[in-house]
Formats: sequence, structure tokens, C-alpha cells
Amino acid sequence: METIAPFIEVIDEIKEAGGDAFQLCFQCGLCDTVCPWNRVRQFSMRKIVREAAFGLTEIEGEDIWRCTTCGTCPSQCPRGLGQIEVSQALRRVATEYEVFPASVKSARSARASVISEGNPLQGERSGRGDWAKDLSVKSFEQGMEVLYFVGCYFSYDPRMKKVAQATANILNTAGVDFGILGENESCCGESIRKIGSEKVFTDLAKTNIKTFIDHGVKKILVSSPHCYHTFKNEYPEFMVNFEVIHMSEYLLELINTGRLILSKEMNQTVTYHDPCYLGRHNNMYDPPRQLLGKVSGLTLSEMADHGKNSLCCGGGGGRIWMDTPREERFSDIRLEQATAAGAKVLVTSCPYCITNFEESRLNLEYEDVLDIKDITEIINDMI
Ligand code: SF4
Ligand code: SF4
Repeated sequence: METIAPFIEVIDEIKEAGGDAFQLCFQCGLCDTVCPWNRVRQFSMRKIVREAAFGLTEIEGEDIWRCTTCGTCPSQCPRGLGQIEVSQALRRVATEYEVFPASVKSARSARASVISEGNPLQGERSGRGDWAKDLSVKSFEQGMEVLYFVGCYFSYDPRMKKVAQATANILNTAGVDFGILGENESCCGESIRKIGSEKVFTDLAKTNIKTFIDHGVKKILVSSPHCYHTFKNEYPEFMVNFEVIHMSEYLLELINTGRLILSKEMNQTVTYHDPCYLGRHNNMYDPPRQLLGKVSGLTLSEMADHGKNSLCCGGGGGRIWMDTPREERFSDIRLEQATAAGAKVLVTSCPYCITNFEESRLNLEYEDVLDIKDITEIINDMI
């Protein structure tokens, strides 16, 4: 630390980053009781907040990078503290002084890739629309019914591309007049902001907003709860307001209005995992369940932690880009909960959740036990 700034300056910056928030905490410890980290290892948000109030947080340590921004403790804190903003502020200070623990190195690579190519996955910008090659997918033009904002993982990740392709098939089958932005689409920036890279987030938001305005976009359809959250709740900070709709709501509407007909049956027990950014952050618990309810023969069995108490997959807050030891992965617990619920398929609606669950499925050797599906893939299989 002594090589990067006078110690006193860092203390002041930490205190300033927290504003009045740090002073609100009365150290009840409820945040620690509900935090998923304490199911796998010791971690104290209460301690971080306490130390930050005096400007004494260890910004070079691991702990300020742990919060997955799952939203559980902010929803229960009796003082309404905003623990996510606390983590974000401390990460901004660490980023400013360029002090990062080893586990955060891959998040730095993701950030560099976002800056150079507009996505965290080291994919070339020019290849962003390649998932749609040989499919009937048009470039978005003004006057189209809806912009399908694909998102980074669905554009580049081999597993997640299948979800984008399923989406295109459903939209075409339902006769939706939609288009994509291809290489003109950039990362939404939600998770980049959570790792403390505020300027990168601002640049991404401004770039996307300009693209939306230039293309005459009014309605944006997204698969990722992270894109949904930032377009709906964070982009309005730039004085814009687009209509944003999540895929699960949209598919339900297509079925309810008779535009999409599910003609097949699925005689299986499935369970639904509420992604943090769809559930706790945006209160969207019912549409995905109602959508699954449209599938004939499907039995929905809830896991021990569901709805408002859903267990985080471990991928939010930029954790998807950080290294988490195998024995500390929340996603392993989630797969065990899914099988305990008698499910043969774990359904969700978030690329980070699917990525983590697929990895846990391999680690736990559950390949013959449990399938992992995006809700869009379930619907595509039924048409
Ligand atoms: S729940 Fe809120 S008031 Fe209680 S220790 Fe945590 S931050 Fe402080
Ligand atoms: S938001 Fe979630 S991960 Fe972060 S400290 Fe609170 S409970 Fe833990």
C-alpha cells in the first residue's frame, strides 16, 4: 500500500466512497446470517461495513470481491444499508489503486476484453452476430416490432449460443418481426459496474444508448437478467427510458395471445432457479413459473430455497469472472437442492446461472442425473 498512496489518503477515500451508508449499520449481523457465503466459508459483510466506517477496509484483500450482489442481505437489513453499493464503492477504490488479489485477475482480463471488443469473453467484435449464421435473423431496422438484444454470453459462449438459436427459432415460429444489432451491440455493462469499473460502464451505456436511438429502438427483448436490470434500472440515469421485456414475460405473452402454440408434451419433473437479478432485484417470480405452467405434462417441484429466498448461483457481481475454489461454489449446493426436489431438469433464465450449473454438473458427475436448461430451450422443444 505504501507504494501506491499515502495511507491516510486511502482511509479518506474509503470513508468517502461509503458516504453516510457506513454510519447507518448498528452491527446486528443479520447480513452475515443470510449471506450464502456462510454456507461454504466464513465471510462477514458486517465486518467490512464496520471497518469501512473508519476507512480501514483491507482493499487489497479478497473479501471486498466476494459479494455476489445477490440482493439477499439488502432485502433484509433493518437499516436499509445497501451492502451492494458498499462493495461496489470499495472495489472502485481498489481499482483506482490497481490492487487486486490473484482470484480477481481473470476479471481484469474480462474487463480488458470488454474495453477492446465490447464483450468479456475475448470474442472478436465482428463475430458478435455469428451465432445467427444460417438462421433467418435480420439486422434491426426502425419500425420492427422488437429489438432482440442478445447479450455477450448468448453471442459468444458455445453453450449459451444454443439458447440464442432457440430464441430465434421461437420468434420466427411466432411470426415476430424482430432484428438484432450484431457487431453494433456492446456489453450492457451491468457486471463491469459491479467490479468497480464505473467509467467502463458509463462508456458502454452511452454507446448502447446511442445505438438504440440511432436505430429507432423502442422495445428491447432480453434473455439475461443482468441486461434486463441495467437497461431498466440503471440506463435511466442517462435520461432515457426504453421499454424492456424479459424473455420469460415475452414468451408468456406470445402464448397467451395465441401467437405461439406449444404442441408437444414434456412428462418430466423440473425445478426452477430464480436468478437473483430477475427475482430479488426485479421482483419477477411469477412469469417464468406461469410459462412453465403452459407446458403440458411438466411437473414443477420447488427447491428448498426458492422465490425471495432463492440461493444465488455465485455468478453475480462479476464473480462469474473470478476464481472460486470448488468447495466454495454455491452452484454445487443448488444442484443438490434440485435433485432433492426430485427434478430431472434444473431450469433457469440467466447465462451466469447456466454457466455455473453446467460446471457443477460436471464436477459433481451429475451428467446422468440432471439436465440444465434455459427456459427458452424448454419452450423451443415444445413447438
Ligand atoms: S444487516 Fe445491516 S445493520 Fe445489520 S450488521 Fe448488516 S449492514 Fe449492519
Ligand atoms: S448481497 Fe448477497 S453475497 Fe453480497 S453480502 Fe449480501 S447476502 Fe452476501
